[in-house]
Amino acid sequence: METRVVVVGAGFAGVACAKKLANDPRVRVTVLDKAGYHQFQPLLYQVATAELTPSDIVFDLADVFGKNPTVDHRTAEVVAVDPHAPSVTLADGSTVDGDVLVLAAGAQPNFFHTPGADRYAYPLYSVDDARRVRSRVLQLFHDAADDPRTVAEGGLTFVVVGGGPTGVETAGALAELVYDVMPHRHEAFAIAGARIVLVDLGQVVLPPFSDAAHTYAAKQLQRRGVQLRLGISATEITEDRVALSDGTTIPTRLVVWGGGVQAAPLAENSGLPRGRGGRIEVRPDLTVEGFPSVYALGDLANTPADNGDALPGLGSVAQQAGAWAARNILADLDGTGRTSFHYHDKGIMAMIGRKAAIAEIGDKRHELHGRVAFAAWLGVHAQLLANLDAEMKAFFTWAEEFYVRPHHRSAALLDPSTIDTPRIDWGGG
Ligand SMILES: Cc1cc2nc3c(=O)[nH]c(=O)nc-3n(C[C@H](O)[C@H](O)[C@H](O)COP(=O)(O)OP(=O)(O)OC[C@H]3O[C@@H](n4cnc5c(N)ncnc54)[C@H](O)[C@@H]3O)c2cc1C
Repeated sequence: METRVVVVGAGFAGVACAKKLANDPRVRVTVLDKAGYHQFQPLLYQVATAELTPSDIVFDLADVFGKNPTVDHRTAEVVAVDPHAPSVTLADGSTVDGDVLVLAAGAQPNFFHTPGADRYAYPLYSVDDARRVRSRVLQLFHDAADDPRTVAEGGLTFVVVGGGPTGVETAGALAELVYDVMPHRHEAFAIAGARIVLVDLGQVVLPPFSDAAHTYAAKQLQRRGVQLRLGISATEITEDRVALSDGTTIPTRLVVWGGGVQAAPLAENSGLPRGRGGRIEVRPDLTVEGFPSVYALGDLANTPADNGDALPGLGSVAQQAGAWAARNILADLDGTGRTSFHYHDKGIMAMIGRKAAIAEIGDKRHELHGRVAFAAWLGVHAQLLANLDAEMKAFFTWAEEFYVRPHHRSAALLDPSTIDTPRIDWGGG
């Protein structure tokens, strides 16, 4: 009899797990995803800043699993988990049973109870989020062109909360859009009033990186016109301003939230033990203590590194954990015994802007800047894309364009009314 594996979430972890199981005739996989498609989060801020269209980073599951007939996929939101059965309950009240559950529902923004943040800040965690940020930026430029007085009231002040990779990459990309691209679109009014401010409670940007990287990233951001307000937190966000912990306020109509993430709501609804960030605690074999048939992976889980610390929320961690969980599921069928997850660390990287990437590679964290760091960034992202059966040629064509034509944007992408055209066809979806 086939072993039924129910995978919740078609992100990096869920797809990698299902793909690895797809080659084995003893297993039947059902992938449940509330969006019904994979969204490639590392390129979200390119959508938010009008470099890519939403559909460029969306991969239809029918294409992702097109060559895997033993994988069924459904668009369905899981609202509860019964780890004893094991089974999951869907939003329509129906239940899906399995022999093994793989929970990989990702993360959601964590506003840390900042008043007004959930209502007025713009998170960047899904394609819809990215679409909203892009539309908002374009709308604000449109409004400022109509009535330049709005600029003095913060109409073109963009605040990014969070100095981690998401905040830094977003601030850098926004700076290029605002200072290099938009002036060619709106020559009629004084662009000098546009401002980008990055706020973070910490004293450095990109805290997981080395001291040299902190300095490099800060300098690159400042060179691009991003003002850094470090050692300060956002205490309240309203429709037209953000209040800061030093008592000052910044008038603004767009606050992008890169201030932190926590586990997706499913973690809380699973009844499973949770730790830091509300994430599900897992054992070294990636299952939950007491539930050997329930795996939790990727951003939904606190996955222990070899030294016992939790691994960071990265696409490569999620992808490798997905494949490892599949190996352990197959090891149970083979009777060969599960193994403890070992993360092959390829390093950490961030793109601050064109010609200003930074990468720390390997166990010794060898540091790369500029062109070679960009090449490393491309390699890691190409590998993440490859798992989706995406076609690589178009990705590299986009990357080349991005690198050599700094001020280029498709006119359609700068028009708020034509969100989804034109589209780069990356083959996979
Ligand atoms: C802006 C941004 C930039 C990033 N850049 C990088 C980068 O450059 N490099 C890198 O390695 N990592 C990057 N990351 C982190 C990386 O994207 C995540 O670590 C990774 O996506 C986690 O994979 P996952 O499979 O755990 O979850 P996700 O990829 O988030 O997938 C979760 C899936 O679960 C589905 N889902 C959620 N809840 C339910 C439910 N209740 N029922 C059914 N389905 C559900 C969602 O629709 C989604 O498809 C970035 C993240 C962000 C937000």
